[in-house]
Amino acid sequence: MIATDFTDVAEQLEELSPEQILVWASERYPRLSLATGFGAEGGVLIDMAARHGLPIDLFTLDTGLLFPETYALWQRLEERYAVTIRAVRPAQTVDEQATSHGDRLWAREPDRCCALRKVAPLAEALRGSDAWITAIRRDQTPTRATARHVEWDATNGLVKVNPLLRWSADAVWAYVKAHDVPYNALYDASYGSIGCVPCTTPVGPGEDSRAGRWRTREKNECGLHIRLQTVELRSAPR
Ligand code: SF4
Repeated sequence: MIATDFTDVAEQLEELSPEQILVWASERYPRLSLATGFGAEGGVLIDMAARHGLPIDLFTLDTGLLFPETYALWQRLEERYAVTIRAVRPAQTVDEQATSHGDRLWAREPDRCCALRKVAPLAEALRGSDAWITAIRRDQTPTRATARHVEWDATNGLVKVNPLLRWSADAVWAYVKAHDVPYNALYDASYGSIGCVPCTTPVGPGEDSRAGRWRTREKNECGLHIRLQTVELRSAPR
């Protein structure tokens, strides 16, 4: 039976650095994937994986609605680290989705749009993996605040590893500067968190870095890191 309670291991990983957690995960899980949304955090993890020569499958969810600056960064990262970051795309193009679900679904039903363009493709991308690595930090959203370094992802049916949980934004940027990690040019144009074009705006002085995402809505997650089912499975049989 698959182990789904990682409470004890997660406790031990609280003592390790992000690099040590990455190495631990790559030794433990042969089929390990890293999903990057091309944030500064993702760049940090790709840099760390490259420094240790870790054989990690890299992919991104290409919604077809990313900024030109994001596509440019994708190419720069591949060149800098001599890696391929594979594109995981939705079943439908943006135009096909408009035909099936109506134009500008993101403006009417962003949760449904994210489900079609991010959540479903992620599940497909992770099929066959033992574990996946994310770049989330605890101080980003209330949902992420209780995340553990290793946990069971009940939604996708595999282990989820979160090496950067304890880092602050300042720590991430210190690493980016110290190691000259390529980053999205939009960060220098007042964007704090960068997703799809229709759902991302710059942030003003004093605003939270994710305030520019789905700005006019309560929504602050695309659905990739919802943990309710994870928590419920804590007591699942081993
Ligand atoms: Fe759709 Fe916006 Fe979600 Fe992108 S972020 S998948 S455009 S709702």
